[in-house]
Amino acid sequence: MRVSQRLGTIVAGRDDGWGVLYSARALRASGIRVVDLTVGEHDTPTDPAILDVMDQAARAGATRYAAVPGIDALRDAVAERVQAQSGVATARENVLIVPGGQAGLFAAHLCALDAGDVGLIVDPYYATYPGTLRAAGGHVRTVTARAVDGFQLRGDDVVSAAEAAPQARSLLVNSPNNPTGAVYTRRTLEGIADACRETDLWLVSDEVYDGQVWDGAHVSPRALPGMAERTLVVGSMSKSYAMTGSRLGWVVGPSAAIAAMADLATHTTYGVPGFIQEAARWALTEGDTLADRVAAPFRRRRRLVVAAFAGHPFLRVAPMQGGMYAFVDIRATGMSGSAFAEVLLAEARIAVMPGESFGQAGAGHIRIAMTAEDDAFGAALSAVVAVAERLAIGASETGAAELGR
Ligand code: PMP
Repeated sequence: MRVSQRLGTIVAGRDDGWGVLYSARALRASGIRVVDLTVGEHDTPTDPAILDVMDQAARAGATRYAAVPGIDALRDAVAERVQAQSGVATARENVLIVPGGQAGLFAAHLCALDAGDVGLIVDPYYATYPGTLRAAGGHVRTVTARAVDGFQLRGDDVVSAAEAAPQARSLLVNSPNNPTGAVYTRRTLEGIADACRETDLWLVSDEVYDGQVWDGAHVSPRALPGMAERTLVVGSMSKSYAMTGSRLGWVVGPSAAIAAMADLATHTTYGVPGFIQEAARWALTEGDTLADRVAAPFRRRRRLVVAAFAGHPFLRVAPMQGGMYAFVDIRATGMSGSAFAEVLLAEARIAVMPGESFGQAGAGHIRIAMTAEDDAFGAALSAVVAVAERLAIGASETGAAELGR
């Protein structure tokens, strides 16, 4: 039987960017030790106190169908968190609980786009973005965030992209950013907000890393003038509370959009398990201690990255203002990010993501997730530098030899 075009085109034979991860897993399965710095997954488990609440809630009966848009107490807790962080009045009706930020991104694009509409994403982008838009029936166009701007997005470039694609209805941004580590400044966000208002775009703001800001401050574009009515914020417990497997996220936006996405939830997921929601509510109302504990290792390892690459003659790390990743320019090795990642895996048994997995603007980079304990992580960084130096010397010798010919 024929698979529908919509599903068939989500990936459609394109490289989905996860090849190195699959190779690393295959090596591991055959008993070889690999330091896995690919996926944004903590090396620490969910806090046992959160699991206790989950367990108690399940035993107390929260195993039945839960309210589809989310239990009231959790919607209220998310509304309170978002309001405290952004200053924008936010009520239960502005919050939909979904099974993870990824489901939130999909719902937000089904809300913003009709079939055939264009959604803009920023290159470099999180690897699932293009497929998510295609799954929602959209066409994807990219707007480049440039390395010379520290990967901050220019509002003018958004306007140009929207004008070049009259069917453009949405822009998806992500700050703190995966993969680049950029945290958008207020000025950047004002430029983006101006562009969205000028060209009448929905702004989908992926803020799943909002708890992991190392430099500057997290600003939600929903808080900028005239933006609450056209912004859908996607948030998640995955990264800030080490709850990746619990699949709990949210979308915050205008109440009519939330109600429409709740209809979608009724006909797709039918909600999120009640015991997970109870645990999330407890965690969110516990104050900052739990989230701070989750963020602490990344804060420490970010310093290790900065120290490992500081002043290096040719390896450049993008400004690491937030999130769980280091985005390193390895072009001086003369290799693509993919080729470099393959050599690194083969020679040093270290798995990182090729920059090309995140779009054209990521070419010649690798993304290192800060997800191994400090000693192993520090050793892996030294190995990355050593492999890159050896390859760069080889590349310049070849270059020199070719020039001499
Ligand atoms: N957005 C970004 C930028 C991400 O990196 C991720 C996960 N890696 C997600 C969304 C989805 O996270 P989750 O579905 O676990 O909430």
